[in-house]
Amino acid sequence: MLRRLGDGLRRFMYGRYGADKLNYVILWSGVILSLLSSFVESLAFLILVSYGLVFWAIYRMLSRNIAARQHEAAAFSRFAKFFTDRQHRYYACPCCGQTVRVPRGKGRISIKCPRCGQRFEKKT
Ligand SMILES: [Zn+2]
Repeated sequence: MLRRLGDGLRRFMYGRYGADKLNYVILWSGVILSLLSSFVESLAFLILVSYGLVFWAIYRMLSRNIAARQHEAAAFSRFAKFFTDRQHRYYACPCCGQTVRVPRGKGRISIKCPRCGQRFEKKT
């Protein structure tokens, strides 16, 4: 019985995106917001936001547009690096948008984009 259920679920999820880090963050934000909205009366409206987040996570999980979901996940991981990497700074190339990582605390430096070769100055 359980095995048949598992097979059915596997067949259902075939060709779909599934879960990733971004989905966990979205789902947990939804759970936390729904808890907040149930404990703090003035924040009751957050229950709608939390439903939105949960539906967004389910939508991403069941999505068949895997390339778009991977693109979102890559953007999210770049975004998360801004907060977790204390040794480097991340800049977007003004010419092509490529993310460039440079060491922190070197003063004003000239950065050469590895993709398009454009040079630009930034303070690290
Ligand atoms: Zn560039």
